[in-house]
Amino acid sequence: MHETFVVSPIAVVHSCFKEKFGIPRQPGLVPEAKAVIELLPPFNVPEAVDGLALCSHIWVHFLFHANHRQSWKPKVKPPRLGGNKSMGVFATRSPVRPNPLGLSVVALEGVLLEYRGRAGVFLAIAAHDLLEGTPVVDIKPYLPYADALVGARNDFALASPELLDVGFADDVDRVLTHTPELKRLISQVLRQDPRPAYKKGHCEERIYGMRLNQWDVRWRYLTHVSGSQSILVTELVAHN
Ligand code: SAH
Repeated sequence: MHETFVVSPIAVVHSCFKEKFGIPRQPGLVPEAKAVIELLPPFNVPEAVDGLALCSHIWVHFLFHANHRQSWKPKVKPPRLGGNKSMGVFATRSPVRPNPLGLSVVALEGVLLEYRGRAGVFLAIAAHDLLEGTPVVDIKPYLPYADALVGARNDFALASPELLDVGFADDVDRVLTHTPELKRLISQVLRQDPRPAYKKGHCEERIYGMRLNQWDVRWRYLTHVSGSQSILVTELVAHN
């Protein structure tokens, strides 16, 4: 019988991503994705993060708390293989794994002792891939001398995925002229093409939607004569 260890959260994520659909598949892909990691008592003391502000990036260890499926399988179908080929779970970053532990390297933009009028310890991060409410079990500094591996390879995930063009309907564009960071966030998220792999390239009429911060964003796909596709953001409404 193996020993069992109990891991409990040291922090929680307040994220721009309010639902799973549309979250980038890895950190780094959406530089404009911002979040605040709030340390929980008794870890929310400034001493615990002393020196962290010297790092440009941190490793965030977290729990996939919002997985629908709990039971893992030895083979999974990663989106990068079009969703129709399978690989060993330990050869992928699938959220469904024997222990639901996630690992993301993210940009650290600041260490704050106050956030929205509340005192505490908060880490402002960017370029992340974390859902609202994600429980964080550990934070570690990124160490360039040890973590940046020149010549590292992964022959399965060769390069980052191809990006789609993202356009905006006129009235959406007008609203976004006053919030350029929101426009960048929407473009960077949608150009990743959040559709499930089996839908990609299909010609369809359907309107897609996702929530970013307090906004419900809706879009559809345009198929061009060349066969290539792009995205048109058709609506942006405040979430109620
Ligand atoms: N970088 C991490 C996560 C990769 S999986 C790692 O390699 O371990 C990325 C997907 O995890 C995202 O597309 C998002 O849909 C999902 N995700 C993010 N936070 C989650 C959470 N708290 N619970 C369940 N799924 C989550």
